[in-house]
Amino acid sequence: MLLSEELLFQYKRCNRRTFLNVYGEESQKQPEKEFTLKLRQEKEFHSKRVLEIYNLRYYQPQVLIKDTENILKLALMTEDLMAIGVECIYQGIIAHKTIIINEGKEEEITLIAFPTLLIKQNIPSRWGNWSYFPVNTPLGKNIKAEYKIMSAFGGDILNQIQGINLSQTHIFLKNKYKPYHLNLNMWISSSRDLVRECVSMLANKNEPEIFISRQRCGFCQWYQSCYSLAKSQQNLSLIPGISPKKQELLIKNNITNFSSLSQITLSDLKQVFHGEIANNIYQQTQSLFTSKAILKNILPKIPTNNIELYFDIEAEPERNLDYLLGVLLVNHQTQQQKYYTFLAKNIEEEENIWQEFVTFINQYENSPIFHYSPYEVETIKRLGYLYKTSSSQLKSILSRLFDLHKIVINSFFLPVENYSLKSIANWLGFHWRNPKTGKTLSNYDKLGGDQCVFWYDQWLQTGDRLWLDYILIYNEDDCLGTYELKKWLTKYQDKLA
Ligand code: SF4
Repeated sequence: MLLSEELLFQYKRCNRRTFLNVYGEESQKQPEKEFTLKLRQEKEFHSKRVLEIYNLRYYQPQVLIKDTENILKLALMTEDLMAIGVECIYQGIIAHKTIIINEGKEEEITLIAFPTLLIKQNIPSRWGNWSYFPVNTPLGKNIKAEYKIMSAFGGDILNQIQGINLSQTHIFLKNKYKPYHLNLNMWISSSRDLVRECVSMLANKNEPEIFISRQRCGFCQWYQSCYSLAKSQQNLSLIPGISPKKQELLIKNNITNFSSLSQITLSDLKQVFHGEIANNIYQQTQSLFTSKAILKNILPKIPTNNIELYFDIEAEPERNLDYLLGVLLVNHQTQQQKYYTFLAKNIEEEENIWQEFVTFINQYENSPIFHYSPYEVETIKRLGYLYKTSSSQLKSILSRLFDLHKIVINSFFLPVENYSLKSIANWLGFHWRNPKTGKTLSNYDKLGGDQCVFWYDQWLQTGDRLWLDYILIYNEDDCLGTYELKKWLTKYQDKLA
């Protein structure tokens, strides 16, 4: 069995993903998202930057195709370079065969890691008076347990190959100019435990349960197949508020799916969870079961005006750039609506679009500005401070902002799988367009902000206006979806009056 660093990394995030990558049917796998391609390019860029910082003469073992056979060939080439004592190896591969006892049986495993750099040091090893330590270059900005475990995994393999005990490895995070020094002794046992668990799952072919999570599953190529299966099983993870631990607890109490959960009474559920948690799960399930909204708390007054503004931002977090401020203007008197855009074609234009946006918004000083996340408020504060907008102007804009997300999650249980704008607007009958085809998007291929990040990057690289047009369509639909939600909230409020 081959166990690569990549499989182990995925196992740490979702064990089912590793299982499917080994045993799943290729035909069930979706193509990689375009955003993943961008991440790969960023990783390459980051690795090269780190290489420059160390400023060492390096060698890079290469093969034309990276299939299993060639990966093992690359591992041998890397060992050859270590044996002759080159100063630094860039994008080498290290592999080590070992035996792991699984349920009393010996499993022969080849462990494979992909350290970005292997740097020569003056500590003797089987090569001679030198040895190597690994440098990993994950894309995160903050150190995470999973980075430490992966670095320890590579360090452990390197120890076996070289016949030494490395005391530390380096982890070079994005935007940092110095590496994080990992105390290997503290992390090797966690890495070995993870390897054992993963090998046991793979060797015993134990297919893990599904748990659909918006954050984790969003970029996974198995999403479509997992989601279809979860739907057919009436999987509990499709109910908002059910975490993996809560799902486990429900299953222990023989509440295995949505159907069984919807049958039980609130007092029965209170035997499993404390008061408020039980009540929230109960009400959420009832909302889904009856396909109706349930009022949770008093609904705050939703403002109305002849002219209302619906606002959504597209940003490029890597460049700390808010490049599109999109506003849908709805005029209830004339029954007209118009979408306005303030679009920065590069980072230098951000100030201009902000000033134009402020001038535009100031024309409608009595109009409420609806949006769907705290991000819009934070961004207005950031841009106002950065570009020295007067505090009175800023206060006036901020006082007119209404975050419909906050209103929805505080006031309602809705019959949706999650409380994203897309899920709620879909429930209300509004669907986003695929900007490339103009066709309505299905549940599976919903677009997200990450897609816009990729399109904007393509615009910067190619200068092709088409990429910006895609973003404008997507952003306009975000504004229209927010408008649909506001209409529904107003109607609901009117019924209560
Ligand atoms: S879709 Fe989600 S549950 Fe399924 S394998 Fe991917 S990350 Fe895991």
